[in-house]
Amino acid sequence: MRPVTFIAMGLVVIGTALIAIPGRGSDPSAAAKAGREWEIHDRNRPLPLTITPGEASTQERDAVVLFEGKDLSAWQGAQGGPAKWKVENDYFEVAAKTGNIKTRQAFGDCQLHVEWAAPSPPHGEDQDRGNSGVYLMGLYEVQVLDSYESKTYADGQAAAIYGQYPPRVNACRPPGQWQTYDIVFHGPRFDKDGKLLQPAFVTALHNGVLVQDHVALMGPTEHKQRPPYRAHPAKLPLTLQDHNHPVRFRNIWVRELAEPEP
Ligand code: MG
Repeated sequence: MRPVTFIAMGLVVIGTALIAIPGRGSDPSAAAKAGREWEIHDRNRPLPLTITPGEASTQERDAVVLFEGKDLSAWQGAQGGPAKWKVENDYFEVAAKTGNIKTRQAFGDCQLHVEWAAPSPPHGEDQDRGNSGVYLMGLYEVQVLDSYESKTYADGQAAAIYGQYPPRVNACRPPGQWQTYDIVFHGPRFDKDGKLLQPAFVTALHNGVLVQDHVALMGPTEHKQRPPYRAHPAKLPLTLQDHNHPVRFRNIWVRELAEPEP
């Protein structure tokens, strides 16, 4: 018998299978409210926000802007109080030995755009050369380092997940030039007893080049250590590292990512 497909009275017959589908008169938000999946090609499904794409340095319209070139009002010191790093015309710079800074707002799953520049002329070698870092949730470091014609250990160079994953390539620009990180981060998931259900995942592009492809983090990043995950809130501040080097940052924005609906 040939498979037959026809639609009548909200029923679909595919071969011999009979599947109920919602009729045209169903409540548009019914699927969402009921917590069930959208039907394929459901025209009641809310459309994504329309944004105006721009240059890589242009923040998305639905982004939280963390630095626009004027002040560090979105940031504070690691122990609270004002962020003490130096603000210049359209960037800010690590003020050595003033400590890390962190965002006032907490973030979980997100897309993060950061621009940075290593000191020029360069000083030092290895880890002692343009070192800073972007700590997702204050715990998981995407390394910032001057890795342009300068060597260090692979899992500590620019765009490494520090101590865990080297970048796929070294896409570093020379010191003094602005560089971009575009990071997609999914935080770890814990159950109510603090047991790890799912690790954190990082995808990252360095100067537009894919350097981390959905890597599963082993836990928080540390120097010479790989400590295990410890349960923490679903959202925590982003942190930038003071490693005693005058690394510059500008144009930082983040888009919070909601769990996708199936
Ligand atoms: Mg660092």
